[in-house]
Amino acid sequence: MTQLDQIQNFIDGQFVPPIGGKYLDNIEPATGKPYSLVPDSDSRDVEAAVAAAEKAFPAWSRTPAAERSRILLRIAELIDRDLEKFARAESVDTGKPLSLARSLDIPRASSNFRFFATAILHTENEAHMMDGVAFNYTLRQPRGVVGLISPWNLPLYLLSWKIAPAIAVGNTAVAKPSELTPMTAFLLGEVCREAGLPNGVLNIVQGTGPNVGSVITAHPKIGTISFTGGTVTGRKVAQAGAPLFKKVSLELGGKNPNIIFADADLDAAIAGSVRSSFANQGQVCLCGSRVFVERPAYDEFVRRFTEKVSQLKQGDPLEEKTDQGAIVSKMQLEKVTFYVDLAKQEGGRIALGGAAPPPPNERCRDGYFFPPTVITGLPVGCRVNREEIFGPVVTITPFDNEDEVIGYANDTDYGLASSVWTQNLSRAHRVAEQIHTGTVWVNCWLVRDLRVPFGGMKQSGVGREGGEEALRFFTEPKNVCIAK
Ligand code: NAD
Repeated sequence: MTQLDQIQNFIDGQFVPPIGGKYLDNIEPATGKPYSLVPDSDSRDVEAAVAAAEKAFPAWSRTPAAERSRILLRIAELIDRDLEKFARAESVDTGKPLSLARSLDIPRASSNFRFFATAILHTENEAHMMDGVAFNYTLRQPRGVVGLISPWNLPLYLLSWKIAPAIAVGNTAVAKPSELTPMTAFLLGEVCREAGLPNGVLNIVQGTGPNVGSVITAHPKIGTISFTGGTVTGRKVAQAGAPLFKKVSLELGGKNPNIIFADADLDAAIAGSVRSSFANQGQVCLCGSRVFVERPAYDEFVRRFTEKVSQLKQGDPLEEKTDQGAIVSKMQLEKVTFYVDLAKQEGGRIALGGAAPPPPNERCRDGYFFPPTVITGLPVGCRVNREEIFGPVVTITPFDNEDEVIGYANDTDYGLASSVWTQNLSRAHRVAEQIHTGTVWVNCWLVRDLRVPFGGMKQSGVGREGGEEALRFFTEPKNVCIAK
């Protein structure tokens, strides 16, 4: 694409402009300048997408699993073929380092298609025998037109995590990526067309939450919604779906604890914590933004962790050596700055970072950069320790014993993920059992097996995605009872 070219919606297998003809600037976070235009779609575009999805549903839902699988595998192959193109688009859209998009986001997106393409070839059906009376079997049928809404931080990865299972089991979809990061979804439309996905099976409507997202969530013909985003938006999605009794899956925010016991392998814990704190500039819902260190290891951890973080290279996301790129938007940068200021008011000590760095080069002069920031000395219950910042900011707090740190870990409205670093196996099990998060990583972070249930407790979400859970969410179980 050349500069300021227009991204289009992907409806009924065609690339089409928004019906209202309006576009929004698509800003490159590293430069602060628009580099393309994204459709500012409205309800008319959603209607067109729903109509296309409805029309495509009967044939697609009856298409044999082997054929659906073949097409999804082809999509995966084409994403792999176009890895560099996708990775660059992802990096320019989000501000994340190109190397990260290339090694993590895009390969995971193709894995999502591959995983669900093969999963549907290996499903089993349940049957329940009633002695001498009847037998029951369970049909799991696609639900129809589903709505899929995703955020900006891992745009292709999270959107494909929804699209792949939804269409694999025979649904048709209306998908909406974040208006801040539309480009990889646009490229995905091209790939789906080339892979031979029938028209209308996947429709992508670009635009804002109020103009497109809320129309999808309230649409009477979309009975199933899979949403990933912030908790405040998730509440609105739940409210829109409730009167229509929609099936809703919500993957929401987090304020994840990262617990380091004094008996941990400190080298591994420090390396793991640098990643879990600052991967993608801390803009991963699973990032461990609250670090708790057992007191005997506290001073050494803070010193060595801070030193290692200070070695991360912040720079132009498109440069190969960059570890830390730009923050996704001006608004997000302002949010991060607000919370660092608040941390100072709440008694925190800035051990590292804390103020915007000089631009890494001339191209990035007006980009949205913030350095990895480490804060110590904050009370556990303060706002900075309770509210999701979603940026390169971590707090470190000492603790004295297991019960105390379990209390700290659970002292939040969120419950998405946690990490525990210890060499004591019994302790690992004990702590994992008591932490209220949907995932507990022990001596690791962000290790993802696509078969396991994924999702959050408390205000981090409702429902689980991943593997069998996703196949179940996107199908309607029906019991057939046959008398003997
Ligand atoms: P967001 O909630 O602002 O937006 C998410 C999506 O919802 C976007 O596509 C947006 O346009 C759309 N939207 C906005 N208002 C809407 C409405 N009223 N109705 C329907 N859709 C609407 O979130 P964001 O800022 O894009 O992403 C960051 C948030 O996402 C963070 O809170 C992060 O923790 C969360 N997140 C969660 C997970 C997870 O798996 N739990 C993964 C990634 C990100």
